[in-house]
Amino acid sequence: MTLPKTTAELRALDAAHHLHPFSDTKALNEEGSRIIVKADGVWLTDSDGNRILDGMSGLWCVNVGYGREEIVEAVATQMRELPYYNTFFKTTHKPAIELAARLAELTPPQFNRVFFTGSGSESNDTVIKLVRRYFDIKEQPKKKIIISRRNAYHGSTVAAGSLGGMSPMHDQSAVIADVVHIAQPYFWGEARQGETPDEFGLRTARALESTIDALGEDRIAAFIAEPIQGAGGVIVPPASYWPEIARICRERDILFISDEVICGFGRTGSWFGCETFGTEPDILVMAKGITSGYMPLGGVMVADRVVDVLLQGGDFNHGYTYSGHPAACAAALANLDIMLREKLVERVANDVGPYLKAQWSTLAEHPLVGEAPMMGLVGALELTPDKIGRTKFADVGKVGTMARDFSFQNNLVMRAVRDRLIIAPPLVISHGEIDELVARARKTLDATHAEAKRLGWVN
Ligand SMILES: *Cc1c(COP(=O)(O)O)cnc(C)c1O
Repeated sequence: MTLPKTTAELRALDAAHHLHPFSDTKALNEEGSRIIVKADGVWLTDSDGNRILDGMSGLWCVNVGYGREEIVEAVATQMRELPYYNTFFKTTHKPAIELAARLAELTPPQFNRVFFTGSGSESNDTVIKLVRRYFDIKEQPKKKIIISRRNAYHGSTVAAGSLGGMSPMHDQSAVIADVVHIAQPYFWGEARQGETPDEFGLRTARALESTIDALGEDRIAAFIAEPIQGAGGVIVPPASYWPEIARICRERDILFISDEVICGFGRTGSWFGCETFGTEPDILVMAKGITSGYMPLGGVMVADRVVDVLLQGGDFNHGYTYSGHPAACAAALANLDIMLREKLVERVANDVGPYLKAQWSTLAEHPLVGEAPMMGLVGALELTPDKIGRTKFADVGKVGTMARDFSFQNNLVMRAVRDRLIIAPPLVISHGEIDELVARARKTLDATHAEAKRLGWVN
């Protein structure tokens, strides 16, 4: 079958046959999807020839930018030599060996072993089994509960979706037992009147402590969190939050799981978000940026003190056909080579990160913007009808979606979460491209503001 060429024909086929993730496919079919045909650097090209600045790195993953021949070559070479073999029954292969060793070098010192998966969701499913196995082997089988946070995102499978704190997902699927959600450190949206960011950070962190006490430490296995909540709207915690969480995790007999699927591999200006915030996880979850999205791959790093116990337990009855897929591991190795050679992590910390933050912060003065946090290369714009009173729009999500659509019309990809616009551009973005990104974001805010005024949503 040869594919038809026109945008209209492609849209019709998509509408006839494709169920889209996290979408109202019926509404989408009426509107028609935007069809992306190629990409280079930070720029996407659609089927009508528009060039669009990708402010989201695909889905937070294309950290080294599009069009990297080096990764393409590494994958092709590996596919010719050995396109597939498994890592189950007493076998392994060179790409998995090399990547495992490389990850042990790049991650914090407590980590020397990795379990490979195909995605972030599979990684978090793996985490649940690892954590429970760990306490079973230690003869503490009552320790089953994993504490997570409301509005967290840990993936989309039944178990990972249960770990996450997204109620619209819970509403559509059964939720697994023994997951408890506590408050998120979302100062702008959830602090009390008069509370300072630091007071709020401490209060939300201490919800972990009081929940452990209320349920009984003998029943709590772990606490899982993203360093910065990504899909929840880029929630950057107040400075007091992570040190207090770290103290609580140190004092209690629980494992701390850092879900680094977004924050890992340079996003916050360190290799991993836990380094930016000074926490010491026992388990570190990876996906997305590990290959810059060129191939699907995930992994779970397990700290030595946990591995030492797991190794006493005999068979671990868990694995995926594509755990450590050779071509995906080859993509990861080539991706990490680029990151090291081009010093992309340092670039985020010392160059483009501070530059974007300075430009982005000027958007906080816009009448529609409540706050404009930016850390490394991940940030947000909280849209509000009332900056001073920190109020939300009556019909949550309407303004955000409208702004997201304006942004797309302005050829800038930003995503909307409720009434919060979010960005996470590729780590290779240049100063000139940052200027362009911020100019398009400002244009988007102006258009949204004008329309919101017209509709009587703001004064
Ligand atoms: C995207 C994401 C996941 C899920 O990864 P998939 O590869 O989509 O399964 C898990 N955790 C976080 C923090 C994520 O952002």
